[in-house]
Amino acid sequence: MSQAILIVEDEPKLAELLQDYLKRDQYETRILDRGDQVVDWVRDHQPRLVLLDLMLPGKDGLEICREIRAFSQVPIIMMTARMEEIDRLLGLQLGADDYICKPYSPREVVARVARVLRRVEMVRSDDSSDLRSRNIFLDESRFLCEVDEDRVELTRVEFRLLLAMVRRPGQVFSRDQLMHLVYTDQRVVSARTIDSHVKNLRRKLNDASSQGDLIHSIYGVGYKLE
Ligand code: CA
Repeated sequence: MSQAILIVEDEPKLAELLQDYLKRDQYETRILDRGDQVVDWVRDHQPRLVLLDLMLPGKDGLEICREIRAFSQVPIIMMTARMEEIDRLLGLQLGADDYICKPYSPREVVARVARVLRRVEMVRSDDSSDLRSRNIFLDESRFLCEVDEDRVELTRVEFRLLLAMVRRPGQVFSRDQLMHLVYTDQRVVSARTIDSHVKNLRRKLNDASSQGDLIHSIYGVGYKLE
C-alpha cells in the first residue's frame, strides 16, 4: 500500500501548488493529469487518499469516483469549480468523503486532507476504548467526545450517560437504568438529577451536531440515542 496522496488535476500549476503544500506537511504525493489513468493507478498503488478534480481529460471525476468505489474505500475528496455542483454530487451519493469548491486555498485543502484521514483512520483503529455512533465519537480512555469531528467538553456524568447510550443506540433507557449506569457507587440521586444531566448533554450535542436532535426523550419512560 502506497502512502501517497494522489492529486488528480489537469491544471499543472494548481497540481504543483497542492503538491507543494502537501509536501510541506510531510505527505508523499503523486500527480496524474488525465482521468483515464486514475482507476488503474489506484488499483495498483492503493494511495492513502485521492484528491480528485471533476473536469478532466479522458474520463471525468464522477465516473472515476464510481469506478474506484467498486473496489476500494480509499478516501476521496472531490474538487469542483462550481458551488452548485456540490449539491448535485451529494445527491448522486458517489461515496466521496468530502467536496471542495474552487478556487480554494491550498491550506484549506491540506486541512481537509488531514481531517478526512483522521476520520478514516480513527474508524479503522482497533483500540477498543473507541466508540462511534453516527457523528459521535467517544474515546473512553481519554474522556474524549467529538461530534462532527469537533471536540465537545462533557462532565464525567454526561460522558458516562452518552457512553451508555452510544453502546446501545436505539435502546430506551429508563432514568433508573441511567442512574445505575452513571453512578457506579450507587449513590441515590433523584430522577430530576438525571433529567438535568441529560438536558445539559442534549444541549451540548445539539450545539455541535449538524444532524439535529441525537437524544430523544420517550415520554414517561426515559431516553434513547437515535
Ligand atoms: Ca479540471
